Amino acid sequence: MTALHHPSDSTLMAFAARSLPPALELVAAAHLHLCEVCRRAGHVWNAFGGAYLESLPQPELSKEALSVALERLDSPAPVEAVPLMATSVLAGIDEKFRQSRWIGPSIRMASVIDDRTTDLRAYLLYAGAGRALPHHGHDGVEMTLVLCGRFSDNGVEYGPGDFQELDGTHAHSPVVSSDEACVCLIGSQGTPRLPGIAGWVVRQFM
Ligand SMILES: [Zn+2]
Repeated sequence: MTALHHPSDSTLMAFAARSLPPALELVAAAHLHLCEVCRRAGHVWNAFGGAYLESLPQPELSKEALSVALERLDSPAPVEAVPLMATSVLAGIDEKFRQSRWIGPSIRMASVIDDRTTDLRAYLLYAGAGRALPHHGHDGVEMTLVLCGRFSDNGVEYGPGDFQELDGTHAHSPVVSSDEACVCLIGSQGTPRLPGIAGWVVRQFM
């Protein structure tokens, strides 16, 4: 599985610093579990971050810090770079599907993390072949990882392993473009702003 779309540098940096909230960290971790390119990048951020901290109080990154960072890149990526929950969620997809709830024709959702204090959630979304999600916006960030199938969004194709990162200014209507169902792991803030009955159903679920 070779992903074409990856998390932003700021997300990878935040992941390396363990500063992402759990719902978003889970989605980023699941992508890193599937993407060697980003595991390598996360390792770079870890190495440079650690070397920089060790070099303080010097204001600039020293040559010594750089060499320490490069040495670290030759060592295996730390196991803790991918929280175990990501692998257990990916391993439990079938069970989660059995727990999922219908929210529209050929569309099902299964909650994974529901953090009411931050209004951040992680959930699995299943959409049948050819299904289009109603046009909707978000109250904050939305991170989507494709686990199987494909979807098209504003002319961009996302396939297995791909990562989509949107902010609260975005509105979209993704469409499943594969012959099979598309399953995504999504981390988002707030509930998707959907009109009409679809919005009511989603609000009941979330
Ligand atoms: Zn990646």
